[in-house]
Amino acid sequence: MAATSRQTDSSAEDDTAFLLHSYQRLRQIASERTADPTTLPDPASLAHAIAALPYADHSDFLAPRGAPAVLEHILTALAPGLNNQSLSGRYYGFVTGGVLPVAEAADNVVTALDQNVQVNLPGHSAAHAIEDAALAMLIALLDLGPATDWPSRTFTTGATGSNTVGLACGREAVIARRCEGVSVAEMGLLAACQAAGTREIQVLTSMGHSSLSKAASIVGLGHHAVKELRVSEEEPWRLDLNAVEKELAREGVASIIVISAGEVNTGRFATNALDMPKLRSLADRYGAWIHVDGAFGIFARVLPKTDEYLNLHAHVAGLELADSITVDAHKILNVPYDAGIFLCRDASIPSRVFQNPNAVYLATPSGPSGTTIQSALNIGLENSRRFRALPVYAVLLSEGRAGISSMAARMVTLARGIASFLASSPHYDLLPSPFNPNLESTFMIVLFRAKDPVLNTTLVPKINSTRKLFASGTTWNGTPACRLAISNWRVDPAADLPVVTEVLTTIATPHSQQ
Ligand SMILES: *Cc1c(COP(=O)(O)O)cnc(C)c1O
Repeated sequence: MAATSRQTDSSAEDDTAFLLHSYQRLRQIASERTADPTTLPDPASLAHAIAALPYADHSDFLAPRGAPAVLEHILTALAPGLNNQSLSGRYYGFVTGGVLPVAEAADNVVTALDQNVQVNLPGHSAAHAIEDAALAMLIALLDLGPATDWPSRTFTTGATGSNTVGLACGREAVIARRCEGVSVAEMGLLAACQAAGTREIQVLTSMGHSSLSKAASIVGLGHHAVKELRVSEEEPWRLDLNAVEKELAREGVASIIVISAGEVNTGRFATNALDMPKLRSLADRYGAWIHVDGAFGIFARVLPKTDEYLNLHAHVAGLELADSITVDAHKILNVPYDAGIFLCRDASIPSRVFQNPNAVYLATPSGPSGTTIQSALNIGLENSRRFRALPVYAVLLSEGRAGISSMAARMVTLARGIASFLASSPHYDLLPSPFNPNLESTFMIVLFRAKDPVLNTTLVPKINSTRKLFASGTTWNGTPACRLAISNWRVDPAADLPVVTEVLTTIATPHSQQ
């Protein structure tokens, strides 16, 4: 390793030696941490990492330290303060996924070759064609019909980005459907609504993800536009189709319907078997847009078509009838952050909304092979963007349908194993319905609470302080609840189930274990 301190002065050989060395060190640390799959950093390492940060009142603040010293600092002082959400198969917080090795390898290529995938210039880079190949494979994997049904398709930063793009497209379409030639993109929301005789644009959903309200704010509809139309308090994730129809019929109101295909607390689904065809005909009758938030839940469609998954298949049936769909890649697909996907049936709405006007240098030349792939910068939020398709491409190509299907099935097997343990436990209530475990509706999220209300208020911190697994806290029917989301490719039901049940048993019966 050269003694060069600042890389801005170093040679190409120095750079290669430095990077090889850094990667060897990193992989060694990662494999040690995988062998000891604690989920959180120990408190001392966490404090040490924070204390090691540069502080503006130090005399050497922003003095050049050089690359080797910085690498040492990152690997030995900072990395121990980071959690094992990816390296442990038992980090069940939020829905995070992990990183398949082939995705990590591809992501390193993305960084090393640093393509800017914005304008599709066919003679310039294969990056856009690779993105499109990844999207076509994903559409086939999710059984959404021919890729040509989704002419506006692109990678986003994640489901929040995709939901925002979805509402922006929905907003444009529902106004244009009310009055031809009127465009929010051209005229702005206020003038377009006025021209279309529309006093309100509403978003109809059931237990919509929090990012949906955020998206509604960003696109100018506002949090209050999001209306919860739940079938019942027992099944609040289910969308009430009668209520939807009533809302659609309101005079002077345009509507976007958002399907929670995977509700984040319960993993349950807004629709069942025949709901999507009904919603499609309602939407067509009233000029509404249907957006599916399928961040993680849409992957139920890749599960084997066997009896144990029939119930889940029914809940994700018909999602291909939507106008637009959100998919996350950094969750179940196990690619690194950040990667989401937006799919849209309409060939022109996204480009109407996201077109960069007046920038001739950004125009896509029409070429023999490039004409069918829309430039990413004209159908999505960003202009400059990372080549985040490559890790997705790598996972789809490496695992294929069979590999992804069995990975998802392992997640479901562990979730159902935990759910079944909880359903028969004297200490816990399996939620959402303690008296109806309904295991065949369990996807890869398990929601529960302790029967003892005192224990229940400290349940999540007690679980997480064991560092053997990591749970997220939430509330269910106004009371604290605990949630396990199984989304890492490392999931190993035979090895993980005993660890989870042992932790939960010990927490509920501390004295009997001493
Ligand atoms: C995770 C999630 C989101 C937000 O996704 P990000 O990738 O974190 O932006 C939106 N909707 C659902 C259903 C989710 O699970």
